[in-house]
Amino acid sequence: MSCVICLEGGATHVCECSLFHVHCFSNYLLRNGQQQDCSICYSRFDRAMLSAASSISFARTQDVFGPTHGTTLVRKLELASALANSGCLSEAKRLFEEIIAAFPEPPWLVTVSKVELARTLRDSGEIRAACDVLEGLVPCLARATAIWAHYEHVEACTLLGACYMSLGRLDQAERNLFFAMDNHLKNEHCQTKKVVQCMRHIANYYEARSDFALARETHRVALSIVEAEEYDPARIALANLHLANAEMQVGAVPLAATRFRGAILALRRRKHDGYALEALPDARRKLASLIRPSKRLRAKTCPEDC
Ligand SMILES: [Zn+2]
Ligand SMILES: [Zn+2]
Repeated sequence: MSCVICLEGGATHVCECSLFHVHCFSNYLLRNGQQQDCSICYSRFDRAMLSAASSISFARTQDVFGPTHGTTLVRKLELASALANSGCLSEAKRLFEEIIAAFPEPPWLVTVSKVELARTLRDSGEIRAACDVLEGLVPCLARATAIWAHYEHVEACTLLGACYMSLGRLDQAERNLFFAMDNHLKNEHCQTKKVVQCMRHIANYYEARSDFALARETHRVALSIVEAEEYDPARIALANLHLANAEMQVGAVPLAATRFRGAILALRRRKHDGYALEALPDARRKLASLIRPSKRLRAKTCPEDC
């Protein structure tokens, strides 16, 4: 398989459409800026390739500028985020903490590192530690006037709301999540992905309050935003899965089964998208629980083929 940069063989898929060698992918990212998605097929870049390429970019930048230069620290932040996305949480935490301890310029580096450290702590189950980081950060960001501080404030409140949800502190979760959503709605330049993520936390909040109809409605609106704004078929299918789960909870079985089938068929086609493949087993299990295919049929086919 040929690399799209050097045309030599032995390359690996980084998305649905393109293959790279890891060094060539690192050059591509350095030239075009760290991106999460392919600009041709719109699928997310492979997480392992992204962190391997970010590691090379960081090492090369450190060789040129030294370990304390702002550019090196920006590369370090990109590497830490890529590692966190690919599941290397303790390594990511160590890098975020090193950036924070370096008191770097520009100041947004510390703030973004703290928000991402909190996200990584939450993902590794250290909810209380994530809350401590965010509770220290949010009051400072509320007083800051820079535009980037406003965006990080909204993101920090979204994460803090999600952490309070995990701790069962629903009133505090509600305050933070709805503050974040209000701010998204006031901003015409808000990022779709962050709005949708915030809506999913709000849907979880409604579920925790046993208001399943409102949770379903929230997922329905989130899906319509994803369908209007996103080109990535996997993200649209994943949003359909969230809504199908909510439909299952309110007993809308035929609707949920149809939605599961459509989403699974779309995800099956995304052979090089780890996010899509990761979601398949649970979706198949849930669809099978809805349609209960016969044992003989189950042995021969996937539930979505029934
Ligand atoms: Zn190559
Ligand atoms: Zn692509």
